[in-house]
Amino acid sequence: MLAKEGNIRYRETKSAKGSTAYRMKMEIGDEAENVSLKQQDDEQWMRHALELASRAEADGEVPVGAVLVRDGEVLGEGWNRPIGDHDPSAHAEIITLRAAAKAIGNYRLLNTTLYVTLEPCVMCAGAIMHARVARVVYAATDPKAGAAGSVFDVLGSECFNHRLQCQGGLLATEAGAQLRAFFRARRKQATSR
Ligand SMILES: [Zn+2]
Repeated sequence: MLAKEGNIRYRETKSAKGSTAYRMKMEIGDEAENVSLKQQDDEQWMRHALELASRAEADGEVPVGAVLVRDGEVLGEGWNRPIGDHDPSAHAEIITLRAAAKAIGNYRLLNTTLYVTLEPCVMCAGAIMHARVARVVYAATDPKAGAAGSVFDVLGSECFNHRLQCQGGLLATEAGAQLRAFFRARRKQATSR
């Protein structure tokens, strides 16, 4: 988003005269409106992902939720369940991508945005790249295993043909609190045994 704003400013200074300058100003206004609408949408979808994360928590799984959206429509959603499914790959993102690909009958999930409450791990980042997801928005960063720049930067890697947009930190406070509360409760349970 910042890059986008940067581009507009650049365009403005490049042709800032007469009617062109006015048109540029109008475009900036529209763009600002689009950006704030997009932020509202992003926040709404992230809140939905946080609700999905609560379902993982209710099952005793690390609370992570994800939802894949295209043009305002949910293509797939999921929550973390490796313990219940006896499946090391059952992360929220993988479950979401599988559900979406099945729903549309195509493993290529073009023009989609994936909202996830925790920075994706290496496995999920790999699957996201294979699925050609256009944009990833995550909430809390994962300093132990994050693959969107915290530990690895798979999502920003130039080794892939596919490039995606990635933004972190949306509702990170809420997501972080949910995760911390979960681990605190689990530690308490472990010591009281
Ligand atoms: Zn993962």
